[in-house]
Amino acid sequence: MFELINPATGETVDRIAELDDAGIEAALARAAAGYKAWRETSIETRTALLTKIADAWEANKQHLAERAVREMGKTITSAIAEVEKCISGFRHYAEHGPAYLAPTMVQTPTGHAVARWLPLGPVLAVMPWNFPYWQAVRFLAPTILAGNVALLKHASSVQGCAAAMEEMARAAGAPEGLFQNLAIKSDKVDAIIADKRVVAVTLTGSEGAGAKVAEAAGRALKKVVLELGGSDPFIVMPSADLDAAVKTAVTARVQNAGQSCICSKRMIVHADVYDAFLEKFVAGMEAVAIGDPMEEATVMGPLSSMQQRDTVLAQVAKAQAAGAKLLTGGTKIEREGAWMTPGVLADLDPESDVAKEEIFGPVAAVYKVADIDAAIALANDVPYGLGSSVWTQDEAEIERFARDIEAGMTAVNTLLASVPAAPFGGIKLSGHGRELGPWGLHEFMNLKAVMFA
Ligand code: NAP
Repeated sequence: MFELINPATGETVDRIAELDDAGIEAALARAAAGYKAWRETSIETRTALLTKIADAWEANKQHLAERAVREMGKTITSAIAEVEKCISGFRHYAEHGPAYLAPTMVQTPTGHAVARWLPLGPVLAVMPWNFPYWQAVRFLAPTILAGNVALLKHASSVQGCAAAMEEMARAAGAPEGLFQNLAIKSDKVDAIIADKRVVAVTLTGSEGAGAKVAEAAGRALKKVVLELGGSDPFIVMPSADLDAAVKTAVTARVQNAGQSCICSKRMIVHADVYDAFLEKFVAGMEAVAIGDPMEEATVMGPLSSMQQRDTVLAQVAKAQAAGAKLLTGGTKIEREGAWMTPGVLADLDPESDVAKEEIFGPVAAVYKVADIDAAIALANDVPYGLGSSVWTQDEAEIERFARDIEAGMTAVNTLLASVPAAPFGGIKLSGHGRELGPWGLHEFMNLKAVMFA
């Protein structure tokens, strides 16, 4: 049984039964049969369904958003924005599908070959709670377009959102077996990966879960894409527009209550502007409107669970024990639910254990550096390599950051956010493979060479 808890109140909002072994077997059989039919559909059929799914989400926007707020505490404004992003994701693949799947002709010594994109089969997605819809749509929309079928094992805390996603597909007329939500806990995942009917797996989540899933996929020699954690740097150089940088740094660190893989988590600031940045940043973090996530004016609600909040508080204590100064916040708010204040740490030893960890909550570590070499060295001095955000007006510095930051994404003078058309993913312990655009679509496809004399 899944017990869904509203982290804003601590109250149980729903109880959802787990799928038993017979239910899993039936779902796998439906996926295999569904794939046989779906792989033969035309691109027009697939893009038409994607459009209908987008329409279904559009018609249920408020309902979907409120469900996410209740299950994981994000603000209603950000939940609406997330649902809208999902709609744009479905529409993106509906619009660009034909171009992304277009065959390519190459000359060969004796004739020519056509490289064609073909589907692979049922793909399993293991997804996290932090963007309960968007994480899963990044997988689902290209899966449908590819001609594959989708199985979703969503995080335990957002099983209502997962069920709602399946309802949207059904309401749009998706055929049986095309998209199935498996209401299962993580101990069932290994056996599903091993099942012959499942051809590949994608996971978005922590590196611990990523390693387990990759191990299971490796044993079965199946393709795996991993989107894991991050400790993204946010670098501010002397030529930056400081007010814009501070405003974005605050947003980056408190959006989704700091629980985003591509939230900027480490603010690395050039010595010339460090004091000015720090003063404004602390003021900005103190001014964040914390409150009921259902209220439109709220900027930050609770964290997603008591456990998540306590993990972040423990990391703050560890940082202080390692000599960091807690300049503001970073403390528990005494009320029912998973509440805490946004925090700012300074003078954290970059070599301490906690400095190498991902802080998945609204607490920033601010560092002072002497020059661009030191900024890049510190940015790269963590095991992760997901995103980054750099603030400078200097073209040569922009080029250095674009080339030398070890990350899958670098945003220049802007907040890093995923968009349907651009590749999304990381390097190092942040995972491998890409989502979105044609790259995400092609991860789980068979690029067949059809050779002609
Ligand atoms: P998590 O504990 O790794 O959970 C993610 C998913 O994996 C959940 O569905 C979870 O199921 C499942 N899972 C956990 N252990 C598993 C195992 N041994 N075998 C199979 N499945 C397992 O992560 P989270 O706490 O939900 O999410 C936070 C993490 O995700 C952070 O590190 C964050 O940076 C990362 N993240 C990365 C991206 C990205 O795109 N790179 C995006 C968002 C989040 P249960 O819920 O049932 O345990």
